[in-house]
Amino acid sequence: MLGWVSQQLKDHGVVVTTRLLGRVVMSPVRVEFGNKLLPVKVVCPCCGWRGRQFHDYIEVGYTGRNSVCPQCESHPMHRYLSLWLAREFELEEKSGVALIFAAREGLRARLAEGDASEGLWDRYKRVARHTDSRGH
Ligand SMILES: [Zn+2]
Repeated sequence: MLGWVSQQLKDHGVVVTTRLLGRVVMSPVRVEFGNKLLPVKVVCPCCGWRGRQFHDYIEVGYTGRNSVCPQCESHPMHRYLSLWLAREFELEEKSGVALIFAAREGLRARLAEGDASEGLWDRYKRVARHTDSRGH
């Protein structure tokens, strides 16, 4: 967090960084308050988390409301991909080898489905580790 703050200070100065920090600190408090008190309205298809709303994605000059899953940190694109894999691609019915580029943690549950002995996520992590250890 300190590295992120110092980078923001370097990039945007004290005033903008102070405002950004206020938003970064207060937004999750507001969202979690609502998630504790209000009825469930959204469900994350990646991890199954249920709540009133997702956390906001906050950058300087930009706020993506209701965007980041508090449990698996998936963003809308990951949740759409997860739904597409299940509903349109029918991943549960597929077998064979898959080549997955830049799989995100939020898709772990979806990619771990299917083959009982070794899910796609396990295969991806094994290949990614092998690739990283070779320096590629
Ligand atoms: Zn999630």
